[in-house]
Amino acid sequence: MIPRQPAGWPASTSATVNPRAPTLPQVTSRALPAPPVRKNLDVPIVSKVESHDEPDTATDGLAEPTLDAHSRVPFPFGFPFPPYAIQVDLMRAMTAALDEGAIALLESPTGTGKSLSLICSSLSWLADNWDNPALFLSPPPPAPDGDEEPSPTVPAWVRNQARQLKADQALSALQDLRLAVRARIDAARQRAASLPDRQRPSKRARSSAAASIAPLLDVGDTDDDDDLILDDHFFDEDDPGAPSVGPSRRLGGADDDDDDELLPLPTDVRDVQIVYASRTHSQINQFVRELAKTQYARRFTSISLAGRKHLCINSAVLDKAQGHAGKVNDLCLDLQKSATARCPYLPADDAGLMPFHDHALAQVHDIEDLGALGTRLGICSYYGARRAVASANLVAIPYASLVHAPTRDALGVSVANNVVIIDEAHNLIDVINAAMSVTVSGAHVERTFNQLTRYTQKYRTRLSARNVVHIKHLLALLAATHKFMKATTAARMLPVNQFLFALELDHVNPHSLAKYLAASQLARKLHGFVNKYEDAALAGGGVGAKHVSPLSVFESFLMKLAAPDADGRVLFTPASPETKVPQLQYLSLNPAAHFEDIVRDARALVLASGTLAPITDLTQYLLPNRFGKEIVHFACGHIVPDKNLAAMVVPATASRREMKLTMSSWNDPAMLDGVAQVVLNLATVVPRGMVVFVPSFGVLEQLLGHMRNGDLLTRLERRKRVFQEPREAQELEKTLREYAQHIDSTTTENGGAVLFSVVNAKMSEGINFSDDLARCVVMLGLPFPNKASLELQEKLAFIESSRSRAAANDFYINLCMRAVNQSIGRAIRHANDYAAIVLCDVRYYQPEIRAKLPGWIAERMDPPPPAAGSVPFGTVVGRLARFFREHRV
Ligand code: SF4
Repeated sequence: MIPRQPAGWPASTSATVNPRAPTLPQVTSRALPAPPVRKNLDVPIVSKVESHDEPDTATDGLAEPTLDAHSRVPFPFGFPFPPYAIQVDLMRAMTAALDEGAIALLESPTGTGKSLSLICSSLSWLADNWDNPALFLSPPPPAPDGDEEPSPTVPAWVRNQARQLKADQALSALQDLRLAVRARIDAARQRAASLPDRQRPSKRARSSAAASIAPLLDVGDTDDDDDLILDDHFFDEDDPGAPSVGPSRRLGGADDDDDDELLPLPTDVRDVQIVYASRTHSQINQFVRELAKTQYARRFTSISLAGRKHLCINSAVLDKAQGHAGKVNDLCLDLQKSATARCPYLPADDAGLMPFHDHALAQVHDIEDLGALGTRLGICSYYGARRAVASANLVAIPYASLVHAPTRDALGVSVANNVVIIDEAHNLIDVINAAMSVTVSGAHVERTFNQLTRYTQKYRTRLSARNVVHIKHLLALLAATHKFMKATTAARMLPVNQFLFALELDHVNPHSLAKYLAASQLARKLHGFVNKYEDAALAGGGVGAKHVSPLSVFESFLMKLAAPDADGRVLFTPASPETKVPQLQYLSLNPAAHFEDIVRDARALVLASGTLAPITDLTQYLLPNRFGKEIVHFACGHIVPDKNLAAMVVPATASRREMKLTMSSWNDPAMLDGVAQVVLNLATVVPRGMVVFVPSFGVLEQLLGHMRNGDLLTRLERRKRVFQEPREAQELEKTLREYAQHIDSTTTENGGAVLFSVVNAKMSEGINFSDDLARCVVMLGLPFPNKASLELQEKLAFIESSRSRAAANDFYINLCMRAVNQSIGRAIRHANDYAAIVLCDVRYYQPEIRAKLPGWIAERMDPPPPAAGSVPFGTVVGRLARFFREHRV
């Protein structure tokens, strides 16, 4: 098999660009790689023309993406309708990156069809390469040091023939597997209509589920403690990585993928998968619904992954857990390890999961659909979805699960040799740092010590000497940690080694203790013991929920201490009115260390978002090691015409006082007065909805308090009804609903409402302020994070020591500008939307600040004037009034 030669996309592409968009802005391309390449110039990417609305009856069953040179799709990349020019450019950039095995940073503003572009470009690329051995044949492992090149005495043609033979055999094996999967899925499609149409499990299954969980709820009804005692053969000190005994070895465990139903493949042969990750379940559902609109929905298989909280179908477990994810996990795992109480929805063997596998892959399902499918089949959706991962062409997963290697492994997701696409990647660094940080309280430490002491006393005669030694070391470590927390009175940030030194425990090795805990499953056994013999208060009272084992929290903390010293810090915080108890927190400082396995192993990596600006955080802080992969950056413009966006800076108040809104200026009544006047004047000319972002809740209270004291708030309310972002998350929906209703009911030209929101709070991300909800977004000041924060100081120090002072300063500015960009990106959400973005602070004229704005906004702003004072506020208001007059219907 000879890999296909790259060729350019047919020149006819421009003819297919949406004719309704004649004035589209030009694509902004920075550091774009060599011209996008596409394989098979003469071969269409799909075998037939199909409408995305019509079911594909002609190819019922999983149409293998063989390529038919005699038919053509009307739109490039198999797009379901004519794409915009910027979508074509984005898909070209994406395809080029996949061809090159590069790291692509792709920016496509909200409303420009980013998801559809990602789907069509990645799956058309997969179709193009369906029989390309360079993809499905894993590269051979690197030769051990000292090994030499193949003997030069073997002629090249012999080596080539051997390679060709291997590729042919691999393709043949792979095609057998593909056919086997496809036959199952075809059969499932035919059976789909006859599936029981019930929304809930049968009465029998429900009573069985209730019976199964009963023993877990009524502890103390058996004298058999065997499952609480530590095994002695679990842990080989010479081989700490040896597999442990526990639920993961049972059906549904991470490494349980025996399957006598599908043909086995040679280990170095497998289809390349597209692993798509986004931040939340609703974003994944959104993506999956877009996938369902394309022709690829029936040509490729897909599966979405979520936690047990979303996919468990055992109503007894769900009722007991009351929506708490951790408790669903614990109850499920307890059922699996119980000898007497098995979950009735978890089949006894792998074959029992296959009906779910087949039906799940037979069509595109979002997470809710998968839950409903499990209920109809009476098969656990959580384990069923995991079972389907190996056969799916596209796997969708929350990115917190993807970046955490143990979770990723447990879900059976591999990044090796696969294409990894991380959407909404602007939060990636924060999510990685959060996923790798662990907090343990003084109460956790104390309670674990007490529980473990009683456990040891009860089972002393039944524990092996080796277990007793390890538990003694653990008790000593807990006691030393407790002593440290009691003796320390002020907040302290310590390198890990320094923290361990402060514990004064020469004879205890925390690293080997962490391995012991992982292998022995002591936390689970201790938790079972506590649930059985201790009262509720001892089990968890004061520390957290009863089902959360304090030892498992301490174990997570201990595991982090095994990371390289430079990658993290231990932050001690004394008890405060908020926390009530002292806390130790492991802070991850180096996200790159936790991300580099993905960078290294993925065939190609795509980080996408509406805006990734400023991207230096990603390139320098997350991707310093690229393993020879090239980074390409592509930022496409917005689909809205220039006339639909007005972006401007307000450098001074109406009284010509320069606006440099630092923290101290929010305490200055004269400046507060000036800022309030600016908001008041803007509200006069902005129709309908206006969203005003401030740096913090504290500033919001200062500003509104000042306006309330005079008559400024009353004057503002005469123009627009005033809303403010609530601190409590549960109030958010009500505020947004009332805000939208008020705008909707407005009859006067400049009536409507103004919504004061806080940067980095709930409304600055994930809320869609389209159309009348935000005809103007105002940003007051630059929301720089508080440099007094110990955590931030440590992060900056880490970057300064590992890179440079300039890099640390850049990182600090980026923290601010990423928040600004997310907030101002709330406006303009589709092609026909229009809005103004008003940045109130003279520092927005600074080149280093301006350069970090999204390109599509920065390019439409006026160049900075020679002097800030040369732009009177009246001029800004006049321009704004003109902008809205031009859009008046
Ligand atoms: S096996 Fe599945 S259905 Fe049963 S408790 Fe666990 S997650 Fe729920």
